[in-house]
Amino acid sequence: MTVRAADVAAAVRAGTTTATELLEQHLATIAQREPEIHAFNLVMTDHAREAAAAVDAKVAAGIDPGPLAGVTVALKDNMCTRGVPTTCSSKILDGWKPPYDATIVTTLRDAGAVVIGKTNLDEFAMGSSTENSAFGPTRNPHDTSRVPGGSSGGSAASVAAGFAHLALGSDTGGSIRQPAALCGVVGVKPTYGYVSRYGLVAFASSLDQIGPFTNSVADAALLLDVIGGHDERDSTSIPQVHPSLTDAITQGVEGLRVGRITDLPEGADPDVQERLEAAFAALRDAGATIVDVQVPAFTFGLTAYYLIAPAEASSNLARYDGVRYGLRVEAADTNAMYGVTRAAGFGDEVKRRIMLGTYALSAGYYDAYYGKALKVRRLIHDDFERAYQHADVLLTPTSPTVAFPFGDKGDNPFAMYLCDTYTIPTNLAGHPGMSVPFGTGAHALPVGVQVLAGTLQEPVMFRVAAALERAMQ
Ligand code: GLN
Repeated sequence: MTVRAADVAAAVRAGTTTATELLEQHLATIAQREPEIHAFNLVMTDHAREAAAAVDAKVAAGIDPGPLAGVTVALKDNMCTRGVPTTCSSKILDGWKPPYDATIVTTLRDAGAVVIGKTNLDEFAMGSSTENSAFGPTRNPHDTSRVPGGSSGGSAASVAAGFAHLALGSDTGGSIRQPAALCGVVGVKPTYGYVSRYGLVAFASSLDQIGPFTNSVADAALLLDVIGGHDERDSTSIPQVHPSLTDAITQGVEGLRVGRITDLPEGADPDVQERLEAAFAALRDAGATIVDVQVPAFTFGLTAYYLIAPAEASSNLARYDGVRYGLRVEAADTNAMYGVTRAAGFGDEVKRRIMLGTYALSAGYYDAYYGKALKVRRLIHDDFERAYQHADVLLTPTSPTVAFPFGDKGDNPFAMYLCDTYTIPTNLAGHPGMSVPFGTGAHALPVGVQVLAGTLQEPVMFRVAAALERAMQ
């Protein structure tokens, strides 16, 4: 029986347990297994103890600490925490401590949550295995010879290993959903603008979204209910109040139309495909209707993404120049200092993206590459919108495979990029998507099924996710 965050908070609010007790349990689990898993870049033991004590003091004083009272949360280490190192798993940010908290950090604290640590990721969230971290990889708690997925591998592993009740990650092309699938937890990429990005270190600003990793659909609903909503400090955040997802999941799927994309790019392993078919069957049994739809431009998502995301990254990462943040390698003059600092501070994948992006944006190539990719992005969006006229949600595999062994993709970046075939188009469309654990595949490893929906259709997406979860119980 999975522990529900809502039950944890209820017990803390009622005084039947304390935030401190819960935190100490998690710290003990971390002490046991973290040396093997390496989910964290930093366990914030002292900060967390202070936060837990503050929650307990509130309860003792008769003040309600909030809906996440005493619930532990792990944060991907690309979210700014005031005075606490935020590394993006890159050497270039060595020694940097943000002077401010990300909006989600403040919101979590105000809701009574206890931030327990900063989790490992592929450097600047570029990757699908967490092997690109400058601090060494995270291991999959289900099989430590395998990757946890990425880029939010540490967040996914921290929830799967019981290091925290909940975690947050960021998803630019699949970085929440794919590791969630590989680690057997729920992962949600909300509609672009649903959650504030203020204080999230930018990778590709038009695609980045923060979202939850949890052990249950109900926990994901609760966490999104807390962190979702408008933030005037993020001009791309949607200026409206979102309906309660906690309420939405009490409704079934009777009468909902679940779309099967008949022209989905091939490439999913047979074991993954088999679980997808089982998911369609489960939803049919629960009263949904399965309909066929086409999303012809889906197949071009990967190509468009690998022009748009690197283009934005090359611009966003220009700020790491040895002057304003973290690492500086001294050299004879300023220009030489920029060069040697960036050469020493960035890993291979980040350098590759910066070069790809700079090329795609350069005079003479801009229209042919970046401009063309933007047009493809529009086609993908429009194709999805047409599909959503016939279906309330779409179902696809999350990842083409179960968790793979370390080094499996070798030094072939393209093989790694293919991990995100099914997740990327949603980011380009700005739509929400989530991965729900749906049994196991090869090597008894977890398989995730992806539920996709149109703009701000989180309530219906969560209803379907909850039905899939019920079918597995
Ligand atoms: N794996 C994809 C990439 O490397 C997506 C990363 C992400 O969503 N942050 O770009």
